[in-house]
Amino acid sequence: MSETSIQALVAHLPANPDTVPVMNPANGKKIYDLPQMSVAQVESAIAAARVAQRDWAKTPVAERSKLLVELHALLLEDETKLLDLLQLETGKSRAHAFEETAGAIASASYYARIAPKYLSRRKTKPGVPVLTRTYVDQVPVGVVGIITPWNYPLALTMLDVLPALIAGNAVIQKADNQTALTVLFARHLAIEAGIPAELWTVVVGDGETVGNAITDNVDYVAFTGSTATGRKVAERAARRLIGCSLELGGKNPLIVLEGANIKRAAEIAIAGAFGSAGQLCVSIERVYVPNRIKDEFLAEIAKRTESLTVGRSNDFSMDIGSLTGYNQLQRMMGFIDDAVSTGATVVAGGKQLTETGPYFYSPTVITNVNQNARMYRQEVFGPVVDVEGYEDLDDAIKMANDTDYGLNASVVGPEREAIKVAEKLNAGSVNINEGFRATFASMETPMGGFKSSGQGRRNGPGGLLRFTEAKAIGVARGAIKLPSRAKDYNRMAPLMRMMLKRLK
Ligand code: NAD
Repeated sequence: MSETSIQALVAHLPANPDTVPVMNPANGKKIYDLPQMSVAQVESAIAAARVAQRDWAKTPVAERSKLLVELHALLLEDETKLLDLLQLETGKSRAHAFEETAGAIASASYYARIAPKYLSRRKTKPGVPVLTRTYVDQVPVGVVGIITPWNYPLALTMLDVLPALIAGNAVIQKADNQTALTVLFARHLAIEAGIPAELWTVVVGDGETVGNAITDNVDYVAFTGSTATGRKVAERAARRLIGCSLELGGKNPLIVLEGANIKRAAEIAIAGAFGSAGQLCVSIERVYVPNRIKDEFLAEIAKRTESLTVGRSNDFSMDIGSLTGYNQLQRMMGFIDDAVSTGATVVAGGKQLTETGPYFYSPTVITNVNQNARMYRQEVFGPVVDVEGYEDLDDAIKMANDTDYGLNASVVGPEREAIKVAEKLNAGSVNINEGFRATFASMETPMGGFKSSGQGRRNGPGGLLRFTEAKAIGVARGAIKLPSRAKDYNRMAPLMRMMLKRLK
């Protein structure tokens, strides 16, 4: 992206003297300086959004939907620019950027399609038929705060911002400093599609400062990020009694069944583990294989992992891109060193690829990670997968569930048996013969975590309705009045008993 185009996007932010340099992870060079916003600026953006939201809420849902149809077309038209920006800011490979962009584009048409159905007034069954009638309206909460991490800036923007907007809200979105350009470009396309600019404001700055200013002033907060930060957001939101959805971390297991094809299982495991260089909440981090085939599986997955192409390219020639910066690389190498020093063995990869770029790391397979290693329980969020053996299936299920997280899981093997195992896994999604994409790519399928992996769900109708309040409207009607005095029950009680019996 040219210097002029970058400056045009940044011009949407206040020109503050306080800036942070944003680096291209693939080559370590500075892209631009990003101004940082103050609490007062965030608060005034929220106040302006509140004013704009009043008119927007009155716009018929069908009209709002048309704008998302237009946005869908613009996203398709500008797919190449979106891919370039995603790669520039995250360092991920073209193929992984493409998967992300596809999800973002699909979300626009999905919400355009379902919004009229789920947001229109609906009749409910009244408690006292004939005498009363009841309806439910789904009204917007007001101003929604959306806090987005750097790893999937486009998809996570669209999956949260679009349902919030179409439900009649205004949005204040905190982009991560590393990936603000992608978010600003997505907003630019939304404005081109006809969405009023004041309804979607992007703010940037220190995570805690800006994040707190958002949670303290909006009517709902949708947070995506680490479990540690998610807890802080939830505590702050609880104090104000505002709703929040939390999409947090994972330590996602994959179980290979006895009857699985070993080659296929190894291929599914690497696709599940190394997407966006493993910096994906639903990535596979642990693989459990029957002891009987462990060596054969390890040889297969090691061979396939070593054959992955790692590097920079704006086409589909590279399987894996860069990690998204110094901190990510250091964190991941720390996990590997710690595991090796406590008895684990690296069977593939395990090398920093400095000649390729400052933060490239070879996809890595590790085994014999024991309970003393930090990565045994903690989320690594990098291109490393741990392969361990199991003696019987119950043990594998127990090990898979032995985590505070519960975001995603996977089972590889004969479908029927795999589905039975899936029923026993404690995770918000379970993918059969696939790492994460079967559920992740489905807009209709709720996405979210059990246990410390979060609260609430994005995608599906629930992903839209979380940004609304259900407002019940009841009407008493007809010549016969509802009782107001005790003696009225002489007449009403027999009628009501009859109705209650019919509910049996
Ligand atoms: P993070 O929690 O450090 O930051 C996430 C976002 O929160 C950033 O925009 C950050 O600036 C902001 N933030 C930081 N402190 C804050 C505070 N006190 N209040 C409010 N906001 C604050 O997470 P990260 O390291 O950037 O992202 C990686 C994590 O996100 C991983 O754990 C990953 O699993 C998780 N994640 C989850 C999902 C999901 O859908 N479940 C998707 C992507 C990433």
